[in-house]
Amino acid sequence: MTDPANPTPPIAVPPSQSATARTAEFELSTPLQYLPGMGPARADRLRKLGLRKAQDVLFFFPREHQFPPPPTRVDDLREGVAATFVGKITDAELVSRTPGKSLFAAIVENDSGAVRIVFFNQPFRAEQLTFYRHVRISGTPKLVGLRWEFSHPKYDLLDEAELGGDEGQETAPQNGEILPVYPLTEGIKDYELRRLTRRVADVLAEEITEVMPGSLRRQAATRLREAGIDLVGDLPDIGTTLRDIHAPPSAEKLNAARSRLVFQELLVMQLALAMRRTSLTGRLQAPEMPCTAQIRQRILRRFPFELTADQDRVISEIAREMGRQFPMNRLLQGDVGSGKTVVAIFAMMLAVANGHQATLMAPTEVLARQHYQTLTKILADSRVRIGLLCGSLTAAERRQTLAQIAAGELDLIVGTQALVYDIEFHSLGLCVIDEQHKFGVRQRVQLRSGGIDPHYLVMSATPIPRSVAMTQFGDVDLSTLREKPAGRGEVHTYLAGDKWRDRWWDFVRQRLAEGRQAYVVAPRVGEDATGDADSLGGENGPEEETEDVTSVSRTFERLRDDVFPEHRVELLHGRMKPEAKQAVMLRFAGGEIDVLVSTTVIEVGVDVANATVMTILGANRFGLAQLHQLRGRISRGRHAAHVCVFTDGERSPEESERLQVFEQTSDGFEIAEADFRLRGPGDLLGKKQSGLAPLRIADLNRDVETLQVARAMAQDLIDEDPAMEEPESAALRDQVLRRYGERLDLGDGA
Ligand code: ADP
Ligand code: MG
Repeated sequence: MTDPANPTPPIAVPPSQSATARTAEFELSTPLQYLPGMGPARADRLRKLGLRKAQDVLFFFPREHQFPPPPTRVDDLREGVAATFVGKITDAELVSRTPGKSLFAAIVENDSGAVRIVFFNQPFRAEQLTFYRHVRISGTPKLVGLRWEFSHPKYDLLDEAELGGDEGQETAPQNGEILPVYPLTEGIKDYELRRLTRRVADVLAEEITEVMPGSLRRQAATRLREAGIDLVGDLPDIGTTLRDIHAPPSAEKLNAARSRLVFQELLVMQLALAMRRTSLTGRLQAPEMPCTAQIRQRILRRFPFELTADQDRVISEIAREMGRQFPMNRLLQGDVGSGKTVVAIFAMMLAVANGHQATLMAPTEVLARQHYQTLTKILADSRVRIGLLCGSLTAAERRQTLAQIAAGELDLIVGTQALVYDIEFHSLGLCVIDEQHKFGVRQRVQLRSGGIDPHYLVMSATPIPRSVAMTQFGDVDLSTLREKPAGRGEVHTYLAGDKWRDRWWDFVRQRLAEGRQAYVVAPRVGEDATGDADSLGGENGPEEETEDVTSVSRTFERLRDDVFPEHRVELLHGRMKPEAKQAVMLRFAGGEIDVLVSTTVIEVGVDVANATVMTILGANRFGLAQLHQLRGRISRGRHAAHVCVFTDGERSPEESERLQVFEQTSDGFEIAEADFRLRGPGDLLGKKQSGLAPLRIADLNRDVETLQVARAMAQDLIDEDPAMEEPESAALRDQVLRRYGERLDLGDGA
């Protein structure tokens, strides 16, 4: 079989290959350099794209497809009307007049006639637009003499076959209508990639093993349509799919092929997650801690308020799961101020009621102490013994606390994350992690005590976008608090220019005069001036260690001396000693400080209801989620709250968009979706942590509906056949294990 458009034989045939080459001149395993028209140099360049053998080419999917307008014939060109013309270069000339001035002119010809294209002072065009090259040009023609001329047109270099003429009919998409666009690498032209993929798909697509049987594809198509996805007919078989994605005969077939590939990719991922979930169920063992009506009553009586309906529902979800042997692994997401702590306290007290210990980990010491105080207050007259583990303990205190934990003399242990990991518990039943913003599939911390896995409850005020929840959190269950406790004031957000600064300070002064308190947040300046995402959630990490406090200190001095001389202004930053930080926070909470000038150390969880005004300086340096966290500090009381953000210097378009979203919505879920859209998933998750294979064709933003269908179908398949042992699942199972087996510990023995 020789390509009529390319009569030269393959450059070389590997020896092992020539013996077996019967009908095709290459096979799935043929190294790229032996493919027609390839050779070692090009194969080398393609290796940069991860392509090694013919099979890889089949799965090297286009980045997008172009739908160029139909070409115009010479007779139909009109002066001043944009048009596309496709043809072959039959003459080309580069004229240099004076140094630095040149004219490149070429004639492009097809069966309807010829047009001229010209470029001034762009001599490099001559290297691309060479004799006999096929091109598609588009631009606005002008009649010059008797010939149409395109000056500086846009152009694509085409493969001969893409002309859609008589030659190359065999592999040409009809009229070259839809053009796949591949990720490019230096030294390979896009038409060369198109020619390669089309050719390989043509010869080898049918040799790929089908992993989705017809019945599965039919069912998937139906469910995808029910989910609102635009799809006509069934999902095509793999051979058709691969041919159609590389050389789409029509928009509809392209759409079907793409739908299939996206679905398949997401299905395989979801099967991996479902298998992992099932295999964990069999391996881990947690203490059963049932919740009787009496226990529930006893716990709820301690809260000074009625639970919201959402809190009530989530508490029931948690209680049900903690009553089972399999460890709960639940993510509780709820916007700042939605009352997550209460839920955590309920769960912890349920553990204690069942004779087990519970631990609550916070990302910062300030927050750990706040939780400790809340718990102490609520449990004041009870027998529950509470311990605090944090950095400011002396060595002796710490040793004593650890001994008490190990001996079971403390029931509830509150601490910063870094300290609570890998300590020895007497009988740990529940681990709560507060304000966790970064996740990975391997989220489950290895906290065990006596061969028992504790239940896990992870809390986050940064809601996880749906798509992320369904991928990274394949083995995590989600609870959501949407409703906020009643009686909350509204939060007004203003995006202000510099000239408003004085007026804004006046406004703050008025609120202070009414007895309210104010935060002023300034960014740290230093090695990581853009630093947003990484300090989110603190983790006791870089924020506290490396921040350069000059900018916030200077702001502090200015506000104290010039702007609010009549008020009590104090400074808080991560470089301060824990006791000093704690003292300032306590005085602020006690109303002894009017204006707290701070870095983002206050972003997490801290709760002062009387603080209702916040100023964020240099807001363009903060991430969206972080801004929302900060705003959360003033949305806790019954007074209306106001936050005003100022920016440093010119804002980039991206910064502007972020700030606009922030101004327009205070719904944490909308913020999270927008953040995800603006930053992409990698950032949110930390690429290394995510643990999942990169996606080749699916896009978690765009394909969230497909993802939902894939997840549901994967769960159904695994429910029916947990190990995927049925013969028709064998190929699919192989693919799941190949792609995810190692990453998710899904070995055969799992
Ligand atoms: P977050 O979800 O941000 O951690 P918290 O748990 O700190 O929120 O709760 C915010 C505030 O709301 C706290 O002062 C808490 O006491 C209060 N709160 C929580 N639940 C309720 C409720 N059901 N009714 C009234 N106030 C509540
Ligand atoms: Mg909280």
